[in-house]
Amino acid sequence: MQIEKKDIRALSKEQLREFFTANGDKAFRGNQVYEWLWSKVAHSFEDMTNVSKETRTMLQANFVINHIKVDTMQRSEDGTVKNAVRLHDGLVVESVLIPTNTRTTACVSSQVGCSLDCNFCATARLKRMRNLEPAEIYDQVVAIDKESRLYYNHPLSNIVFMGMGEPLMNYNNVLKAIEMIISPEGLGMSPKRIMVSTSGVPKMIKKLADDDVKFKLAVSLHSAIDEIRSRIMPFSTNFPLADLRESLEYWYKKTKSKISYEYVVWKDINDNKESIDALVKFCKYVPCKVNLIEYNPIDDGEFQQASDESINEYIKALEASGIVVKVRRSRGKDIDAACGQLANKEA
Ligand code: SF4
Repeated sequence: MQIEKKDIRALSKEQLREFFTANGDKAFRGNQVYEWLWSKVAHSFEDMTNVSKETRTMLQANFVINHIKVDTMQRSEDGTVKNAVRLHDGLVVESVLIPTNTRTTACVSSQVGCSLDCNFCATARLKRMRNLEPAEIYDQVVAIDKESRLYYNHPLSNIVFMGMGEPLMNYNNVLKAIEMIISPEGLGMSPKRIMVSTSGVPKMIKKLADDDVKFKLAVSLHSAIDEIRSRIMPFSTNFPLADLRESLEYWYKKTKSKISYEYVVWKDINDNKESIDALVKFCKYVPCKVNLIEYNPIDDGEFQQASDESINEYIKALEASGIVVKVRRSRGKDIDAACGQLANKEA
């Protein structure tokens, strides 16, 4: 029976050093290989040119490097790029490069499918197949950074965890991936340029605060009224807004980092005064800003973008209460790369 080889990037630097000493080599060899794996993003052991042939053969005999492969790359009329990323086991996730005049942002996936069941979201229909490994998240960022340099002549400036999956349901791997993205031994990006977006799992938000993370936090709120929110995001019945509020207060107390609320206004769902008043009230609990996101219907179902007038009502009310609000126009609609649309249609 053939034993499946382990992905070498599952090993920490310390474990790699131990592997070498256990095999009669110097611990320092582990540092060299670690550098090849992460900052130099080697795709094969053969690439490791300052490592002896003998060592490379030994690594080959014991490990694999499970790199992702960008299967298809689509470019939108507005410059947005969507990658369909094939994983080593054949599954596919999507990641997106969103350019603006001043920056390029990577929107990356954290799960294949999603553990949650937001009714407006195409990914929810895929169900969760598995969590992504830290290296698979890291590789998505590397691929988008390359595209940013190629098409926009500068390195990637920001990362948002708003692709497929609920990042806090793959907590350890997401944090490990971010650790490598910000590490000088990885991509060396500032944590302030990374935003993790959650649909609001109170226990995990508190854990983030306890773990003293330095990246930013966004919450997909969509309604500050429990009954309406449960209709939009059925799982939230188990996580009432009172618990979410408490976890966000805890987050702010520990991190002093403002929350971004992601909010879509849907016709006949939350385009009413009661919803606006509830949001304004909720925004007063913790320093925050609100992103009103343009919605892209995924079918002819119950979720349709509200009118411009309704969105303006939200803006007026929030601004009158001194709350910063931005309208985020949809990007990459023509290639199904916009918010809520990632569903592996091309796979
Ligand atoms: S919106 Fe996010 S959390 Fe909700 S189902 Fe879609 S991918 Fe999952």
